[in-house]
Amino acid sequence: MITHHLNDQLLMAYSAGTLPEAFNLVVATHISLCDECRARLASFDAVGGALIEDERPTVEMGSDALSTTMARIKAGGMQARDDRPPRTRDPVLPAPLRAYVGGGVDSINWRPVGGGVKQAILPTSEHASARLLFIPAGAAVPDHGHSGLELTLVLQGAFADSEDRFARGDIEIADEDLHHQPIAEPGLDCICLAATDAPLKFRGLLPRLAQPFLQI
Ligand code: ZN
Ligand code: ZN
Repeated sequence: MITHHLNDQLLMAYSAGTLPEAFNLVVATHISLCDECRARLASFDAVGGALIEDERPTVEMGSDALSTTMARIKAGGMQARDDRPPRTRDPVLPAPLRAYVGGGVDSINWRPVGGGVKQAILPTSEHASARLLFIPAGAAVPDHGHSGLELTLVLQGAFADSEDRFARGDIEIADEDLHHQPIAEPGLDCICLAATDAPLKFRGLLPRLAQPFLQI
């Protein structure tokens, strides 16, 4: 059961077609797994561009950081939406992702980034970056903060940080206010789709040195 969903700002921007490609991909993938957000999206689609055109949106902004980021997202450019039903199935990758990977989970071109963690950077436009992350069961992602917006969608397994637990379909929306260290649960290796519009801020020296290599 999905317990962490998209917020109104993301659904509105997706509906208006103004998200950078990387965020667009995360939203489309969550919606493909989540009936609740698909229904909320339908209501935003019905309203059309009216809400997003309004100078003062009626939804409450979560924080200055998020609203600033969303303003940048609005300027990010149009992305075509593809709501067509999937033609093939994969146990891990929903349809919107398979087009980027060129197949199912077996087609992912993983690159090791240390500690058993692997990543595959997906080809998206320059406004934000998207990657698939493989975190071995029980392993941790380096402790880090965020200078922009980071969306993380769980595709397999689960991870937890000091705040909460996230399993398949759950989306974590992180901004400048969140400093966290996600740890994959024991049992099943964790595979996530992550998108960010700014480099992550790592606390330790080694992760900072590795940052250019990680391309995040
Ligand atoms: Zn949802
Ligand atoms: Zn993060």
